[in-house]
Amino acid sequence: MNDTMRAMVLETSPGRLVARELPIPTPGPGQVRIQVEACGICRTDLHVIDAELTEPKLPLVPGHQVVGCVDALGAGVDGLQLGQRVGVPWLGWTCGECSYCRSGAENLCDRARFTGYTLDGGFAEHAVADVRYAFPVGAGDAVATAPLLCAGLIGYRTLRFAGDAQRIGIYGFGAAAHIIAQVCAWQGRLVYAFTRPGDRAAQQFAAELGAVWVGSSDESPPEPLDAALLFAPAGETVPAALRAVRKGGVVVCGGIHMSDIPSFPYASLWGERSIRSVANLTRADGEEFLALAPRVPVRTVTTTYPLAAAQRALDDLRAGRLQGAGVIVP
Ligand SMILES: [Zn+2]
Ligand SMILES: [Zn+2]
Repeated sequence: MNDTMRAMVLETSPGRLVARELPIPTPGPGQVRIQVEACGICRTDLHVIDAELTEPKLPLVPGHQVVGCVDALGAGVDGLQLGQRVGVPWLGWTCGECSYCRSGAENLCDRARFTGYTLDGGFAEHAVADVRYAFPVGAGDAVATAPLLCAGLIGYRTLRFAGDAQRIGIYGFGAAAHIIAQVCAWQGRLVYAFTRPGDRAAQQFAAELGAVWVGSSDESPPEPLDAALLFAPAGETVPAALRAVRKGGVVVCGGIHMSDIPSFPYASLWGERSIRSVANLTRADGEEFLALAPRVPVRTVTTTYPLAAAQRALDDLRAGRLQGAGVIVP
């Protein structure tokens, strides 16, 4: 049997992905090995290769929306079987002991490790994962499932912080937005989609997904919003969204990194408006969202790339050439 695999590797930070042959990893205690069928790309991957996230493991196999079948079990693994289809998200390991882990906030774990950042991820033919963070997923299309694991899951956590808001503004209409817009419509909420100024393709896409209003991020919506979800990495969307929400409204920042937020008058925050961020995910989020997605049902729009084209996929994401979600297929 061949004991090496193809992988796309980040060797310097910042850097670009290069094709390498690596030893096929062996799962340690409590881990499973996965034969990767699909791995979604995400703006966070750009933050990693651009060194906006500053502490990657190096060399690193990025990719944190991994879907594949278990092909080896480490010692002490129960609950998953050989051949079972699983999905692995961004949060890849937690300590289980710190005050956050013990209080149901494992997403804030002091010692958390992250798939495709501080742990090797899914831009490879095989990956290993902690069995606690390998969610069973259905036998459906692996490519369609991959974007659910970050765009869907962290997007869903972002939406949860909007509470029962009816009018929801979504800033940045990429992978997360196109999934969460479907969930909103299913829940009977109204989506107001804000794109980069002049991005007609994204505006058209948002309208097709049921947005009741589409416009540019520097425009005002026709009526005040109850909440705004920010998936664009642009700090200037924060004061823009604050101006768009009603008194008591919330602005939820769903990304892991954002350019600096420009100063804004206190009057924009006044009226008990609030701003909050979303960090990572919990296993409970994963279980809840992965059960909900087929009921909606969420249909992801994907563009696939072969493994060797992972850097080109990220370049397309950066340039705004991608509609929906990009997915790497080894
Ligand atoms: Zn992500
Ligand atoms: Zn912890």
